[in-house]
Amino acid sequence: MQKADAIVVGGGPAGSTCAWKLREAGLDVLVLDRATFPRTKLCAGWVTPEALQDLELDPDDYPHGLVTFDELHLHWKVLTAKPATRQYSIRRYEFDDFLLRRAGARVLQHKVRQIRRDDGDYVIDGEFRSKYLVGAGGTRCPVYRALFSDRHPRGSGMQTATYEQEFAYDWKDPACHLWFFDAGLPGYAWYVPKADGYINVGLGGMAEQLKHKDGHLREYWQDFVSKLKRRGLVNYDDYDPKGYSYYIRDSVDAVSDRNAYLVGDAVGLATRDMCEGIGPAVRSSLLAAQSIVTGEPYSLAGISELSGDSFVSRLLERQFAGHQAGRML
Ligand SMILES: Cc1cc2nc3c(=O)[nH]c(=O)nc-3n(C[C@H](O)[C@H](O)[C@H](O)COP(=O)(O)OP(=O)(O)OC[C@H]3O[C@@H](n4cnc5c(N)ncnc54)[C@H](O)[C@@H]3O)c2cc1C
Repeated sequence: MQKADAIVVGGGPAGSTCAWKLREAGLDVLVLDRATFPRTKLCAGWVTPEALQDLELDPDDYPHGLVTFDELHLHWKVLTAKPATRQYSIRRYEFDDFLLRRAGARVLQHKVRQIRRDDGDYVIDGEFRSKYLVGAGGTRCPVYRALFSDRHPRGSGMQTATYEQEFAYDWKDPACHLWFFDAGLPGYAWYVPKADGYINVGLGGMAEQLKHKDGHLREYWQDFVSKLKRRGLVNYDDYDPKGYSYYIRDSVDAVSDRNAYLVGDAVGLATRDMCEGIGPAVRSSLLAAQSIVTGEPYSLAGISELSGDSFVSRLLERQFAGHQAGRML
């Protein structure tokens, strides 16, 4: 039996951040991830300055590729707005591996299947034992399934469905483009240039609203990549997009029980306007680590539900999450 003070299930931004802070406080930490890092994570890879600040990461010190945007190109029907803002893009393949290495914890490739309590400890698959357990396994987190899903069911109206691809491409337009509600998509599509000749294109929408429209992302995808070609943004024919699902934030507060904590996508914390998940994953993990170290209660109250504070953010929130409160536009 391998023992640790804390076991973190999942080595994405949530898991690595929690492991990093627990290690800093002197705990013996073991991270279990089903994948071997570096691993592919479907994600547009947009990171905010706030998330980098929480990670204590100066963009100039990041050792991999990073693109800086000083404005975003937002499209809706025939309108285009270019609000000034500082944002970044990274490749998750590199970013997650960098953060996990930096955490300085023991990392083992292991797919967690079974979790039980024994004499105040958590025992995983009969092989690993710890006093503290952190569920950072994303949408399909086994800690969520074993310990929290009964009491904290995720709202089906908060589920997103996405389709995307990241590939080597000699892009010419260095701007980040977002298209909202094209052809009735209950979400948005993106074009995100990455460093070192990569690009990420994709689209996502609220799963339940898609079902109501009898729509499938595959059909929206065809329209979208044709548009990219027409506009001269991406002329590519070998697409092989993949799908993934995660949850935007419901009315959830802290999710912890005894010495078990849930963070990041395992809770479902992505913002209700832009579906941004990296920042909330990092922030929730800092708070969980603080709670473990100090014994203070774990609370998610300080994590913003929105990525922005403008009228547009509130409009998007109403469109994506508003039907929960019967406020669909
Ligand atoms: C297509 C798409 C685009 C997105 N774009 C953005 C964006 O541009 N910006 C943004 O901020 N957010 C974006 N998001 C959301 C963002 O990717 C997530 O919110 C973020 O990755 C959450 O981090 P996490 O650490 O909680 O989970 P994850 O990054 O999913 O990490 C979970 C880890 O747990 C591991 N794991 C799972 N099950 C087990 C198991 N049984 N045993 C052991 N390990 C396990 C996985 O291998 C994985 O490494 C996007 C999401 C998608 C799907």
